Amino acid sequence: MSERLPGDKDILELWLGKIGLSGCQYKYGFVCSKHFHEKDLLKFANKIHLRKDATPLQCVYNTERTTTFGDSRKFDTFQVPESNSGESYQEIFDSEDIEIAAECVVNGQMNNKVDEVIHGVHLGPAHIIRKRSITNPLRILLYYDESVYRLDEDKFALINDTILPEAVHFWEQALMVRETKEVIRLNRKCESSQVFVKNSLTHCIDSCKSVTMCGEVQVPEKHLDVCRTCNATGQDCKNDANSVMGDGIENADFIFYVSARQTDRCDKGLTVAYAAHCQQESALDRPIAGHANLCPSSISVKPQELQTLLSTVKHEILHALGFSVSLYAFFRDEYGNPRTPRKPDTGKPYLDEKLQIHKWSTDTIRKVVRQHWAVRGGYINRTIDMMVTPRVVEEARKHFQCSHLEGAELEDQGGEGTALTHWEKRILENEAMTGTHTQSPVFSRITLALMEDSGWYKANYNMASPLSWGRGLGCAFAMQSCKDWIYALSSKGRSIHPFCSKVKRDPLQTECTDDRNSVALCNLIRHDKPLPKEYQNFDTIQHVPSGEEEYYGGSVSLADHCPYIQEFTWRSKNVVVRGSQCQFEDNNPKPEKNFALESYGANSKCFDHTESMWEERSCRQTREWQHWGSGCYKYKCENRRLHILVANYSYPCYFPGQELSIRVMSGGWLHRGSIVCPSCKDICGDYFEQQGMECRIREEAPPSNKYPRDELYCNAINWKISSVLLLVSLCISFAR
Ligand SMILES: [Zn+2]
Repeated sequence: MSERLPGDKDILELWLGKIGLSGCQYKYGFVCSKHFHEKDLLKFANKIHLRKDATPLQCVYNTERTTTFGDSRKFDTFQVPESNSGESYQEIFDSEDIEIAAECVVNGQMNNKVDEVIHGVHLGPAHIIRKRSITNPLRILLYYDESVYRLDEDKFALINDTILPEAVHFWEQALMVRETKEVIRLNRKCESSQVFVKNSLTHCIDSCKSVTMCGEVQVPEKHLDVCRTCNATGQDCKNDANSVMGDGIENADFIFYVSARQTDRCDKGLTVAYAAHCQQESALDRPIAGHANLCPSSISVKPQELQTLLSTVKHEILHALGFSVSLYAFFRDEYGNPRTPRKPDTGKPYLDEKLQIHKWSTDTIRKVVRQHWAVRGGYINRTIDMMVTPRVVEEARKHFQCSHLEGAELEDQGGEGTALTHWEKRILENEAMTGTHTQSPVFSRITLALMEDSGWYKANYNMASPLSWGRGLGCAFAMQSCKDWIYALSSKGRSIHPFCSKVKRDPLQTECTDDRNSVALCNLIRHDKPLPKEYQNFDTIQHVPSGEEEYYGGSVSLADHCPYIQEFTWRSKNVVVRGSQCQFEDNNPKPEKNFALESYGANSKCFDHTESMWEERSCRQTREWQHWGSGCYKYKCENRRLHILVANYSYPCYFPGQELSIRVMSGGWLHRGSIVCPSCKDICGDYFEQQGMECRIREEAPPSNKYPRDELYCNAINWKISSVLLLVSLCISFAR
């Protein structure tokens, strides 16, 4: 009695004929559940089935409906359990859970969300608006859904007093727009999917919806224009007598609706927030209203997570302002002319009926085929999407120092909501507009360039942060697979930075991030299943039996499973205990677990240990800890040297690579281990330069007896040392 919509196009057509929809399907592109009466739909197992004798609601050409692929911000954070003996080694992965954002029924698959974009909010004639210069700082008006007020008091305070004002202020400083002189009144949503535009004003057929939503937020009446309607033939157009024109919004260029609802989407795959634009103005198609939903359960009030939350909200705002697959086709050049040719009848870009997004020109995004893309055991052809607008090209070439790079690579994974709406993670790892959060996100010049290339904004490049990932690494890095990069460099005996090839295993050996702001690990791990061919990046891996390489890859799938050094969090019984960033005092291990005498907080950096493990000795026993490799320590720049502080002692560094031998009594234990001096210039160079000084070079270290050394004094009775090896279990997860 019910039938799934067939995937095969020919069969689909036959089938649509049976239910009276033939001749419509080209117009619909998709057959959607919303095209039928509710009674004709059967829902089970997350799929929608349509009764064979179903009759469609209507058959109209939909010119105005577009699905926006709302972004979902997710995290790819890296977790390691705290030293807890007894836990067995395990690796936990979240499944490749992908957000899809469309309601249409295709082959019986139900996507979960459709957002309708309303075009044509009329602010004035294009020829007048276009003439305005883009010199006015962007003004964003925030509007809260009542769900925001229902947040816990501390969460509300954080969002309202810190996160939103700072995020909004950032973009108001970073972007300029043409002046909006007019009062903004948003269009009402129509009951029908078809609209008529008369005298630049949008008219619904017969009636407007009683409620107009922007994302999860109901747009207040005072923001809405009067309801204008025509009859089905476009005649008898008038203002609906029952509706009133709202006061509108003055002194703003963009209205940002914010909600904090624990929606289904929040529950899917650790989604932190999602956002999209919802209305565009008619003259130049600039998005004029947008929304974000912050998932309440993901809002953390911990100080060490503040920067992450702030960056997430900035990221979401940018999707609504222009960085979105549903807006690329509307981008304009600096003269206000469309970068993508428009349809003569509607003035809109052509719609890709299959994807339900407006198609962009190859002057905006171009497909590039990379031949000889190295993967395990050979080569493949890899097709990638490049953003090729002029400023993006310029900035990408400058960043990588690759003069023939076609543009900036867009993400190809993650499905709708992630693919194409972010930069490629492999290429721009911690750029804040990549598809998952991993570590220390920055908004770079390349992202500002994209906003400028929309034609709606000018960017203040002073607001960009330096991006070190990939900087100056050339075309070999920017245009070839990470396998190529790793093998080319390692065969020359050189560092494979920024990638790594050390499998996380027992005992856990940590490293430092490049900027030394965090203890970190190589995220190369064994996956449950062989990776897809295009993401197999190793022919051989140290300590991995031959033939099993296909299971190994970096934990971040959006980075094409290329392994790299990543911050992580320590976990105990599935609860996050502390992070690995040096600057937060909260990340200090408990005194009884602080075997390497680390010290987190302001003025703390990550320093490497030597190859030998740290040990603790009391008069009764010796214990050795099963993870080591690096730690956070306070330091000072003094006397033209770097000094590393351990417990109450200061250890001056005389040359890079110098091994400092540490023997310090603390908490009744003698802690023994070593720390390796980095170059003074890396840590203190800038500081000394400000003082008109520089680091001393080519010095010799004094003999070790000139350094502080504690001794363990025991009486004869106690001098019975039993050796205990503390087994530290490893457990890592890459939450998505
Ligand atoms: Zn995003």
